[in-house]
Amino acid sequence: MNRHRAFVLTQQRLAALYTLIMGVILSLCGLGFYTALAQDHWLSLNRKLESLAGTLHDGIEPTLREPGLLEPVIEDFLPGLVCVGDLDCPESSSLGERHLAGVVQQEDYYIRLVDPSGQTLAQVGQPPEELGPQGQVEPWTTLVTPEGNSYRQVSVFLKTQSQAPWGYIQVGQSLNEYDARLRRLAWTLLIGLPLGLLGVAAASWWLAGVAMRPVYESYRQVQQFTADAAHELRTPLAAIASTVEFSLGEPHLSQPEMEHTLGVIERQTSRLGNLVRDLLLLSRIDLQVEQVPQTRCDVNLLVDEVLEEFAALAIASQVQLKRQGPEDSLWVWGDEEQLYGLLANLVANAIQYTPEAGTVTTRLQQHDGFIQIQVEDTGIGIPPDQQQRIFDRFYRVQGDRSRHSGGSGLGLAIAQAIASTCKGTLTVKSQVGQGSCFTVQLPEQPKP
Ligand code: ADP
Repeated sequence: MNRHRAFVLTQQRLAALYTLIMGVILSLCGLGFYTALAQDHWLSLNRKLESLAGTLHDGIEPTLREPGLLEPVIEDFLPGLVCVGDLDCPESSSLGERHLAGVVQQEDYYIRLVDPSGQTLAQVGQPPEELGPQGQVEPWTTLVTPEGNSYRQVSVFLKTQSQAPWGYIQVGQSLNEYDARLRRLAWTLLIGLPLGLLGVAAASWWLAGVAMRPVYESYRQVQQFTADAAHELRTPLAAIASTVEFSLGEPHLSQPEMEHTLGVIERQTSRLGNLVRDLLLLSRIDLQVEQVPQTRCDVNLLVDEVLEEFAALAIASQVQLKRQGPEDSLWVWGDEEQLYGLLANLVANAIQYTPEAGTVTTRLQQHDGFIQIQVEDTGIGIPPDQQQRIFDRFYRVQGDRSRHSGGSGLGLAIAQAIASTCKGTLTVKSQVGQGSCFTVQLPEQPKP
């Protein structure tokens, strides 16, 4: 399909806009996900440290007798304890085997025992040289060594059995693993996001195309309609112009020639008038500019009036007009003039496309809350592949007679539009050479 450039541009713009919006949404989601995960890791890291420090504190504190003095039992809790400075590390007590702090054998953990001023007394693992702010011991600290390694550390206060301050036990963990995890997550998001956006861009392009299709289709129909309307208007105009030109070129027109010329002009003008009237009616129905007030209409009466109007034409065409159905009033909701136009169009077509000695039957029926009006003829019929197309604007079955008789090809399109404004339908069944049956179905209204 060779689409108009404006549509391709609009599709591109829509796709770009969708992608941009989705990009912002995905980025925000990614950021939220990253923050939530980082926070979760951080909290679980802190909880682990806290619980380890708490366990050690509860085990060690009851054994402490004097400030600055390590009891042998501490070795049971902290195997591999190394004393710093002048302090002598006690030998392990015979209790042994209670290694509550087995976790400190993991490489990235350390445990430190410090005095109240923050000076290290003993340690397990490999704590950073950095001790944090001297002179004061914060419960939670994040230490960064000059080499750029970070540690998270918790300090828990220890006192002796006589409630004198002993110092602190500090449990810390290297943040290398934590940082690496976050880095991995960030990279996954940074690579995944553009890839996801590529997918979104492709889907957006496709979606924009799907959304544009009906718009393009109706644009194409409007273009086709304008071209057809111009074509239909040009034919009578050209006939008038050439007739006038011919008359002006003749110095002396005889009376019959004059009558012929004026006759042609009158016919073509009336054709133009009908066409313009039909076009206006269609555009009003389309735009629903004119909210025609709908009233209760008696279909039976309308059918009688239409048959009365076409009786003379039927006699002239040697077609028999028949009427079937109940005689009493049948009510529908609609505009009387438009409904009359709908029925008149069907009956006029039926007479026009029925050869001499044929019959046109108008049948009225009531069923399931609907009123059904059928106009059936024994005429030329319509080929199956054209039965839907005859409702298209300006469509005429190939080589038919309506072009010569002044039909614009708008009649059935208008009739169908009128039926749908009354919440009804207009359908056709036909067989070539046998005849056609047009059925109007309208919702029945209760009797007034
Ligand atoms: P027109 O004003 O040209 O009659 P319509 O929209 O009323 O236009 O009809 C469209 C075409 O449908 C006609 O040109 C004709 O070919 C076909 N048609 C309509 N009614 C009948 C019918 N009763 N029998 C056969 N062909 C019909």
